[in-house]
Amino acid sequence: MFVREMSEEECIALVSAGRLARLACSKDDQPYVVPIWYAYAGKFLYAFSMPGRKIEWMRANPRVCVQIDEISDRQHWRSVIVIGRYQELPDSAQWHHECLHAWSLLKKYPYWWEPGGLKPLPQPVVGASPHLFYSIHIDEMTGRTAVAEGGI
Ligand SMILES: Cc1cc2nc3c(=O)[nH]c(=O)nc-3n(C[C@H](O)[C@H](O)[C@H](O)COP(=O)(O)OP(=O)(O)OC[C@H]3O[C@@H](n4cnc5c(N)ncnc54)[C@H](O)[C@@H]3O)c2cc1C
Repeated sequence: MFVREMSEEECIALVSAGRLARLACSKDDQPYVVPIWYAYAGKFLYAFSMPGRKIEWMRANPRVCVQIDEISDRQHWRSVIVIGRYQELPDSAQWHHECLHAWSLLKKYPYWWEPGGLKPLPQPVVGASPHLFYSIHIDEMTGRTAVAEGGI
């Protein structure tokens, strides 16, 4: 087996075809990683969430890292790492268009709101759902892939 760097086009193809990512954020030198579903368009990843620790931390520190992969077996895998910036997309005049864009991309997938819209404990009943959309602007993206000897 050998490992090689992926081209930008290969990275984009993997991120574009993928759905599941590991999102890392940090606060006060403490990293925090969670799995999330995402949708990709242009230079952005889009996602959906309820308020909680990761949103609180990304509001405090928008610098994040996202890892996306496709693993067939130990000798055949592709992995992309994105360094990017969190942007919340409230349904306000400034962000309305981007918020709708995120929703239109995510809703293409069945049950797109699960599990981002769920929490283990019952949530307080409020007038409007506190759910939110956000984007990750892709500042840097690198990829590595493993190929068995004799493969491409
Ligand atoms: C396949 C998959 C896809 C998912 N997609 C989404 C998505 O698109 N959007 C989304 O918001 N969430 C998604 N989740 C759930 C996500 O991983 C988090 O559990 C959830 O978002 C709550 O994170 P939080 O920071 O708000 O935690 P909080 O509800 O604030 O809870 C914080 C506490 O719970 C613990 N905790 C939180 N999440 C997890 C976890 N996954 N595993 C173990 N401990 C945990 C933390 O360590 C911390 O102690 C997905 C999970 C899986 C497995």
